[in-house]
Amino acid sequence: MAQCEVCGNDYDKAFEVLLSGSRHVFDSFECAIHAVAPKCAHCGCKIVGHGVEADGSLYCGAHCARRSGRAELRDRA
Ligand SMILES: [Zn+2]
Ligand SMILES: [Zn+2]
Repeated sequence: MAQCEVCGNDYDKAFEVLLSGSRHVFDSFECAIHAVAPKCAHCGCKIVGHGVEADGSLYCGAHCARRSGRAELRDRA
């Protein structure tokens, strides 16, 4: 049994995520995404797929990177 650090739910199927050496406990992927998923630098949505990276900024997809002036980017997935 572990307690989700986002919503506080005590759940027997909670899981751990190791991120940059620190341990996080969540009861659902929804909570995990809320807590640790990076945000798109253009539209602000949570990046739950591969995303694209340009000059240290993360985007949810090539369309958002392109709208921010990164014309050279393509989706790798
Ligand atoms: Zn939760
Ligand atoms: Zn986006």
